[in-house]
Amino acid sequence: MIRVGPSGIGGVKEAIDVLKQYKKAGLSAAEVEFTYGVYIKNNEDARKIGEVAKKLGIMLSIHAPYYINLASNDKKKIEASKKRILSCCEKAHYLKAKYVVFHAAYYGKRNAAQTYEMVKKAIIDMQKVIKKKRWNVKLAPETTGKRSQFGNLDELLKLAKETGCSFCVDFAHMLAREGRIDYDEIFRKIKKFEHIHSHFSGIEFTDKGERRHLITPIAKIKELLKYIKKYKVDITIINESPDPVGDSIKTTKLI
Ligand SMILES: [Zn+2]
Repeated sequence: MIRVGPSGIGGVKEAIDVLKQYKKAGLSAAEVEFTYGVYIKNNEDARKIGEVAKKLGIMLSIHAPYYINLASNDKKKIEASKKRILSCCEKAHYLKAKYVVFHAAYYGKRNAAQTYEMVKKAIIDMQKVIKKKRWNVKLAPETTGKRSQFGNLDELLKLAKETGCSFCVDFAHMLAREGRIDYDEIFRKIKKFEHIHSHFSGIEFTDKGERRHLITPIAKIKELLKYIKKYKVDITIINESPDPVGDSIKTTKLI
């Protein structure tokens, strides 16, 4: 199955109406943006929104705050990062959102292997809490758009294998990071997974990586859909362009 939906469900008060509009527009997924903070404070609000989403057949996921670095030199910052992700996991549990997406870390002065070990340790620590609290959620570090950020696809696949975490494939970030995209290579690596959580949009980039997200060109949507069908993957595509709803509707019409 291919699920499509935008990033963002609006504030707590309008979320239920927004989800109903998404349903009417033929959308089947949406990502709750906690990128600037966990704005749904109340678990009961989260539960109500989650119930409506489930009834409407809209699969929710969460994007955790940007202020995260699981490989910081400052231990306090690592602990604060874990706390932010875990507060998203708690809300995800009530929202019935399975995937909690985050940009895991910056390499800083560390090499890739050292950074990997720190991220891995933090993920294992967080998984212990998730298990203890019996939250039905999956940690999903995302393929990042800048070369200074931890998170190319191979690093995330290794994490998934060694910790059992999930991951989020941001195809636009992969293009920005590498300057090219080879869908056959990507799908050969990810096709064995039961479900793929992904992000997509147009993107402007330099040799350092992403600069900003852009409206998703129709040709790019068609290209991605062609490979999704070729490899028969079960996937959720969250659109993160400046017009995520419009571009999600555009995408559903091309499936
Ligand atoms: Zn993304």
